[in-house]
Amino acid sequence: MRVVVIGAGLAGLMAAQQLHNNGHDVVVLDKGKSPGGRLATRRIGDATLDHGAQFFTVREPEFDHHVQQWVRAGIVREWCKGFSIQDGHPRYIGTHGMNGIAKHLAKGLDIHCNTFVFEVTRNEDTSWSIKIDDGTVFQSDALVVTCPLPQAYSLLITAHIDIPEVLFTCEYDRTIGLLAVLDGESAVPAPGGVQNPSESLQFVADNYMKGISHIPALTLHFSPGFSEHHWDDDSHAMHQLLIHHAQPFLGNARIVESQVKKWRFATPRAPWPQRFWQHESLVIAGDAMSRPKVEGAALSGLAAAKAISELQN
Ligand SMILES: Cc1cc2nc3c(=O)[nH]c(=O)nc-3n(C[C@H](O)[C@H](O)[C@H](O)COP(=O)(O)OP(=O)(O)OC[C@H]3O[C@@H](n4cnc5c(N)ncnc54)[C@H](O)[C@@H]3O)c2cc1C
Repeated sequence: MRVVVIGAGLAGLMAAQQLHNNGHDVVVLDKGKSPGGRLATRRIGDATLDHGAQFFTVREPEFDHHVQQWVRAGIVREWCKGFSIQDGHPRYIGTHGMNGIAKHLAKGLDIHCNTFVFEVTRNEDTSWSIKIDDGTVFQSDALVVTCPLPQAYSLLITAHIDIPEVLFTCEYDRTIGLLAVLDGESAVPAPGGVQNPSESLQFVADNYMKGISHIPALTLHFSPGFSEHHWDDDSHAMHQLLIHHAQPFLGNARIVESQVKKWRFATPRAPWPQRFWQHESLVIAGDAMSRPKVEGAALSGLAAAKAISELQN
């Protein structure tokens, strides 16, 4: 089958790899500059900073199977077994940043980045026409949609399919982030991450201590409440406020460069109870299905690929 996958985040890439391995002709379309979605790593000068997902945990043997392959390939490694409390569960990171996982999965796939899909229509024979921003139309026998659900909704509205409303009314928490390059060691304690240090902050990571940056550089993720409250602040005032909140983590170092990053669809609040939603040759997948976070996205992508492959049986 020819399968189009919309979204080259973890869910889309896992689905696409699996479908490709099963012998399908797969095309992945993503509006971003490169694959990864919320598995995002940015360079600022000599610093390398994860600015989406910071680390991930593993619960299911199916995901563990893939993670151990990534460990053997040197793509991921264990960071620690907890932050202020050691609970014994490994926290994994991308060896060269979380986006390295996406780069690894993207190998051998036909991925079109900078490609914004804005209309999906179902043909009479249940195949699909997928229209992108330059007017090109991709045809496919099956379609996997992995964007955050509100974005999937706006795409699928023209497909005239009876999709449960509750699926698309799923709300997402927002995250405002600050990326800060320092001129010396930070005050972040070992192993280089602090969870929920204050009401305003959800996570602070030292990318140097994590082992992905050549020089000290912090990622600060602000809490959903703080992010919602300050979302529309004037950008200069917001930047200054975020820098103010970074002070306790600087030690004797100074911020030499910093950037603000806003994630509108950071975390789904109430995931759909199954790993995917399917109507004939359409499957909706992603981290809003069954379990949020990196593991949920991966398992949803794998389940979506299985559902598509079973269409032929
Ligand atoms: C700030 C932040 C911190 C996080 N921290 C953690 C963490 O520490 N641990 C953890 O496990 N998880 C964490 N997560 C969650 C984790 O990153 C996500 O659950 C996971 O990466 C989601 O993958 P996905 O494939 O479902 O979605 P995405 O990665 O969002 O992929 C969807 C893709 O669809 C594309 N797209 C959307 N609309 C269109 C369109 N119209 N046309 C073409 N392409 C389109 C987007 O460009 C995107 O690449 C964090 C997320 C954020 C934002």
